[in-house]
Amino acid sequence: MNSPILPKHLLIIGGGFIALEFAVIYANFGSKVTLLQRKETFLEKEDKDIAESIYESFQQKGIEILCGVEFVEIEDKGDISILSIKHNRQSLRLEADAILSATGRDPNTQSLCCDKAGVELDIRGAVIVNDKLQSNVSHIYALGDVNGGAQFTYVLLDDYRIIVSNMCNTGYNRTKRKAFPSSVFIDPPFSKVGLSEKEAIKVGYEIKVVRLPAAMIPKAIVLKKPQGLLKAIINAKTNEILGAMLFCEESYEMINLIKLAIDLKLSYEMVKNQIYAHPTMSEAFNDLFNVREVKMASSIQVFDIASIYISLDNI
Ligand SMILES: Cc1cc2nc3c(=O)[nH]c(=O)nc-3n(C[C@H](O)[C@H](O)[C@H](O)COP(=O)(O)OP(=O)(O)OC[C@H]3O[C@@H](n4cnc5c(N)ncnc54)[C@H](O)[C@@H]3O)c2cc1C
Repeated sequence: MNSPILPKHLLIIGGGFIALEFAVIYANFGSKVTLLQRKETFLEKEDKDIAESIYESFQQKGIEILCGVEFVEIEDKGDISILSIKHNRQSLRLEADAILSATGRDPNTQSLCCDKAGVELDIRGAVIVNDKLQSNVSHIYALGDVNGGAQFTYVLLDDYRIIVSNMCNTGYNRTKRKAFPSSVFIDPPFSKVGLSEKEAIKVGYEIKVVRLPAAMIPKAIVLKKPQGLLKAIINAKTNEILGAMLFCEESYEMINLIKLAIDLKLSYEMVKNQIYAHPTMSEAFNDLFNVREVKMASSIQVFDIASIYISLDNI
């Protein structure tokens, strides 16, 4: 992160948040970026339509993406490095002036000498804690990345709330934590909260799905950032929002509103019928949730607002 050099060609190993963010940062600075990942599918945990939309935006930036890569070796040749890989049964030697490994972070507990205090660690080195974040040694607690939970600054802050609650005996613990949003700071940013379409189906919900291309949002046009796709999942029985995936400008702000709606068990109509200031990206919720029903053969009803919208030229 402190490197003062702009590589001509940067190879990034990994397919998570940090790999994606650095790919976009360096592509925007003008480097040629190649993103390599072991998994066969780009953003395999995300819904296909969202992953495709992000993939497309990466391609528009000239970022090359290779999935299903087998890594063989890295050779340091002074000014350049050579990464040998196998891809599509072919052996390839990729030359770059920088390689970034972004393959995940293990909890940094090595220097804490947990064994001397008798504190148990799991296989990745995380302190094993209960829902009160208490380790097996009753007076030792672990907050933040070291306890093996989601690695975010605001999760660390919520861990702190648990510790305060332990001291004040107010009953907050990890089981009471609600869905929390996350944002990947790519361009445009991708933010999500709650369940995706495939997760909701897996859990057994009967759902409605709504989508809106970012190009239909007036503020996105004003900002000259029309790329992206917004999507939300609704419980078809209760009309409560189960989750949202927002790949659009300022999604890192918008997602907090959906998180609140989920926590308060608001119906999607409530979010749809709010008066939002204009021009703002949050206005998109008026349209995203303005669903027209399309009956499908399955029990899952799909609402796709993109197909009924006026064309971009008319905005
Ligand atoms: C590139 C990158 C981008 C990220 N972007 C985001 C983001 O956009 N949003 C987000 O929410 N999260 C982000 N994160 C994750 C976030 O930084 C961490 O989840 C958060 O910092 C965890 O806080 P922590 O206090 O548990 O650990 P840290 O912030 O790592 O703090 C641990 C502290 O303990 C100190 N320490 C370590 N060992 C010892 C020792 N033996 N003795 C004394 N002190 C010690 C360290 O020096 C450090 O100061 C990002 C992480 C990375 C690497």
